[in-house]
Amino acid sequence: DQGKHADLLDDLNPAQRAAVEHAGAPLLVVAGAGSGKTRVLTRRIAYLLAARDAHPGQIMAITFTNKAAAEMRERVGELVGRRSGAMWVSTFHSMCVRVLRREAKTLEMSSNFSIYDADDARRLLTLVARDLDLDSKRYQPRALAAHISNLKNELIDSESAGSHATNDFERRAAEVYVEYQRRLSQANAMDFDDLIMRTVELFQVFPDVAEYYRRRFRHVLVDEYQDTNHAQYTLVRELVGTEPTESGVEPAELCVVGDADQSIYAFRGATIRNIEEFERDFPNARTILLEQNYRSTQTILSAANSVISRNPNRRDKRLWTSEGDGERVVGYVADNEHDEAAFVAGEIDDLVDQGVAKYSDVAVFYRTNNQSRVFEEIFIRLGLPYRVVGGVRFYERKEVRDALAYLRVLANPDDTVSLRRILNVPKRGIGDRAEACVATHAERERISFVSALRDAVADRVPMLNPRSRKAITAFVELLDGLYKLVDSGVEVADILEAVLDRTGYRAELDASDDPQDASRLENLDELVTVAREFTESAAEAAALAPEAADDEPDAGVPEPGSLPAFLERVSLVADADSIPESDGGDAEDDTEAEAEDSGVVTLMTVHTAKGLEYPVVFGTGWEDGVFPHLRALGEPKELAEERRLAYVAITRARERLYVSRALVRTQWGQPAANPASRFLDEIPVELLDWRREAPASGGGGSPRAATTWGGRPGTGSDSAQSRIASGGMRTTGFTGTRGDWKDTVALKLDAGDRVNHDKYGLGTVVSTDGSGPRATATIDFGTAGTVRLMLIGSVPMVKL
Ligand code: ATP
Ligand code: MG
Repeated sequence: DQGKHADLLDDLNPAQRAAVEHAGAPLLVVAGAGSGKTRVLTRRIAYLLAARDAHPGQIMAITFTNKAAAEMRERVGELVGRRSGAMWVSTFHSMCVRVLRREAKTLEMSSNFSIYDADDARRLLTLVARDLDLDSKRYQPRALAAHISNLKNELIDSESAGSHATNDFERRAAEVYVEYQRRLSQANAMDFDDLIMRTVELFQVFPDVAEYYRRRFRHVLVDEYQDTNHAQYTLVRELVGTEPTESGVEPAELCVVGDADQSIYAFRGATIRNIEEFERDFPNARTILLEQNYRSTQTILSAANSVISRNPNRRDKRLWTSEGDGERVVGYVADNEHDEAAFVAGEIDDLVDQGVAKYSDVAVFYRTNNQSRVFEEIFIRLGLPYRVVGGVRFYERKEVRDALAYLRVLANPDDTVSLRRILNVPKRGIGDRAEACVATHAERERISFVSALRDAVADRVPMLNPRSRKAITAFVELLDGLYKLVDSGVEVADILEAVLDRTGYRAELDASDDPQDASRLENLDELVTVAREFTESAAEAAALAPEAADDEPDAGVPEPGSLPAFLERVSLVADADSIPESDGGDAEDDTEAEAEDSGVVTLMTVHTAKGLEYPVVFGTGWEDGVFPHLRALGEPKELAEERRLAYVAITRARERLYVSRALVRTQWGQPAANPASRFLDEIPVELLDWRREAPASGGGGSPRAATTWGGRPGTGSDSAQSRIASGGMRTTGFTGTRGDWKDTVALKLDAGDRVNHDKYGLGTVVSTDGSGPRATATIDFGTAGTVRLMLIGSVPMVKL
């Protein structure tokens, strides 16, 4: 047995080994990217099982994304085999769902609650805001949702929100919050933030429940700890405890790993305070630092170190590797985003041809999901196999959401948001007025929407006209037929098929000759496939299930393979990450055999790439206004977060890193000339190998080059450039016919200034950024939109 432990420690460095062997007090491992934090976590789990007699059922490991959870499960599976099945390896959200379903009775709710994602939450907030007569401009559902989410992340419940409000918006939002929670509970639903907050509440209000879990999970491990928010932090603390309980259950062993430089979810309330104050919050905690990087070449590390060192208020840490320098970072300045994508595709082709890399070794990163389309187009054209992780999420498409709404109503009839979504989809003659009658009746009688529908059938809803009543009756009969089917125990895919057929949803799309509808049909077929695979894998899992002696069956947890289990799976997929894209993603299904050989190129946002690694990484769209994001340009805090994102991007690369930018990129439907990303300048020049630089036409340095030719249509050497230039460039002051413009050189503007622009009219400066040739202003032109303008040269704009 001794030899077995040695195996587990053999290929670790002394600091890593110490982290794996450490027993007792809470342990914090802080270290830069690629230093083996995740490896320490997985290895520690294996070690707990092999050397410290822990049972798999005593282990809870928490990761940030579903993808990361799957990967960890796999890694642990490789180390300890089938026994890994009894462990809980999951995201915060799925862990909480599991606890909440099990403890639903304690919380006086039913265990078949629906999980509302951001879109459902916004729908419900729209209804609430409307019913409270709020001005929809001032109180936009999106803003309300963000505000309520922030409150929940701080564990501020609806009752106390009012007392935290500091202005009008917050006071009204607090009222919305109260009503929103009431509707959620009436719909037997929770949003994502509730999952965490309710679990915390459960543990705090019911110490015996908390004790049950503390007894059960003697080891809690958290990866990517820098991205936990206050609610998640509290959850962890409640789970492990800091003191023995009254009946003498000692705190569980806690091990968290993280890197403050990779904190990229501040916008969701994540706070690196959790890392910084770990030692204070957990007395006698131990901290271990790791410094050796095993992932990247020295060149890549130096680039990463150099960029991140520009951030203020950070603890400096220097990563080093014994791997050697490797290749220089390749830089490329493209004419536009299509050219950039063509460069990336061509380069990948070459690498594969030369045998340097397989497709699966390559990842292409971008800042926001919408940037994937151009890559997809060219990859499809060239036949490069790829898959998009995240993207226009499959589960966010209308038809998929409609179908799922039916399933959710079948699993939870009280789910009002889903029910109202499908009430008249496909159209069946239940109009807005009829819906309003039913909703009013439900409110007045304090009954659920579905009960109100049944009242309508029985003609107990006032003001409802007979035609609507008939339509509602038919709808209720349709649902009842489907409920019967569900009760008969057929598998999820068959329920879904029945929904699509009996509602006429499929027939309607079939009859249409809109090509969009054809692709909607494909997506629905894809959803049926997802459901079939779900049932199959549940059956396989059941066949393979470990004896799980130490893991009693959980009350309230949906039966594997059941409709509620399916819905839970798809709800949580919409979490931080997402499933591979389905269209274009057919490349992904390409024969498994081929995938074995060379796999597919992965396209994803930098956020999604956290924790992952690839031999070859393309960082694209490195432009100020794209990456860093426009929103961050005038905001030091947000800029620091963007820089951490750049650090994450660079440190995903093992051997080769490419960084590229486009001189002109279509944004919000308009060509925009963005200056080079400041992060490019932060990579030491000697590490960079520029394949193609900005044309030095007209007026000089690279930041200006783009704008200079843009302003003089026809002088660009490339016709594509001229075409775009003459199309009118929205974000610069250099477009159009020079003579038309008032020459206003180097406008000096501040936030709040009013301006008049020849083309966009009156506007207000939202923020400014940069100085000299890089000065830009983001200006809100009202209905003409918000536009970023450069402030040098001939800006057709005057300050008022
Ligand atoms: P990130 O901050 O990006 O999440 P990380 O600190 O979690 O990174 P890992 O993903 O655990 O780092 O490790 C990075 C790579 O280095 C992996 O390929 C891992 O297998 C390898 N590695 C880690 N430690 C060692 C070691 N002691 N010997 C050899 N390889 C190692
Ligand atoms: Mg990691």
